[in-house]
Amino acid sequence: MLPIQPNSELHQQMQQWRRDLHAHPETAYEEHRTAAKVAELLREFGLEVHTGLAVTGVVGVLRGRQPGQKSVALRADMDALNLQELNTFDHCSTHPGKMHGCGHDGHTTMLLGAAKHLAENPDFAGTLVFIFQPAEEGRAGAKKMCEEGLFDKFPVDAVYGMHNWPGLDAGYFAVHNGPVMASMAVFDIDIVGQGAHGGMPHLGVDPVPVAAQLISALQSIVARGLNPLDSGVVSVTRMHGGDAYNVIPESIRLSGTCRAFSAEMQDHLEAEMQRRVEHICAAHGANGTLDYRRGYPATINDPEHAQRCAEVTGALVGEAKVKRCEPPSMGAEDFSFMLEQRPGAYIWIGNGSSEGGRGLHNPHYDFNDEILPLGASYWVNLAQACLTPDSSD
Ligand SMILES: [Zn+2]
Ligand SMILES: [Zn+2]
Repeated sequence: MLPIQPNSELHQQMQQWRRDLHAHPETAYEEHRTAAKVAELLREFGLEVHTGLAVTGVVGVLRGRQPGQKSVALRADMDALNLQELNTFDHCSTHPGKMHGCGHDGHTTMLLGAAKHLAENPDFAGTLVFIFQPAEEGRAGAKKMCEEGLFDKFPVDAVYGMHNWPGLDAGYFAVHNGPVMASMAVFDIDIVGQGAHGGMPHLGVDPVPVAAQLISALQSIVARGLNPLDSGVVSVTRMHGGDAYNVIPESIRLSGTCRAFSAEMQDHLEAEMQRRVEHICAAHGANGTLDYRRGYPATINDPEHAQRCAEVTGALVGEAKVKRCEPPSMGAEDFSFMLEQRPGAYIWIGNGSSEGGRGLHNPHYDFNDEILPLGASYWVNLAQACLTPDSSD
């Protein structure tokens, strides 16, 4: 049975918080209203509250009824996307160009619901740390919190995260034993030739055919260079160069992104790109430079902690509704920075169908309020499973 029941008073409350957050989305490091609301509610529940970590991050601390040395962190993200919402329901965004299109309003709410329930029923031994982080979407709020001493100020044995997952039915979870989300890098390639008259190509070095050859060559990195059982992505997503019909441009810039599930694979992709950029450009008398910038590392669950998540979710919904073999996502997630510091696991909770534009980052997306009690119940049961009196010596 769920500790937080559907249609309970807390479910109604959570729905109100979630819709209020949805109507007032805030993006990276500007989550001031959101953070204030989170801090106010946590204080109201009776937690010890710390604000201002990574600008708008909020941390709540709750001690169990029984003493214990163990400590566990549960993490939610609070930020929205720069995206114009196209929904028309009552709680849609009131901030033009900003939208909770990734469901972080729901993540924040589920963790708040769990905090309220656990504050009223502190049936655990040790310390719970509730992390509400800013700037997950591209601005590495988790990394900034870690750099500002998150786990020095709040030492924990493990850290757990959860993301809603459109395409996975409501009432289901997915728990991965290893990689869940990919690592991400972005790149810019500058191909510098020599501009010339469009009718007199022999007087210049045309970077356009060099760019064309290079784009084809980059596709062979994965198609011909990787073990087919390994995963990697090289996507050229942008080409800029040239302004006229009759001018051969001086330079072309190609940009894009690479994805992989390990640091070694990112190193491999970068080295292979570097070689192609250098030599293909050189072969044509052009000059090529690669600027390869790593973003989020891969999110990789610790198998022992993933097993705990699987047991807790299995007890909530039945083992048949806990997917253990879902392929990982090629999206990236900054919870990876926390997992680099502490062992833990990051799971998916089904948000229902992704059909009809209900996928993440879609202007028609909305978090599914029906799963609020299930997600909050997972946090409650996970906390209790991690912090049993027996486990604390
Ligand atoms: Zn997102
Ligand atoms: Zn997200």
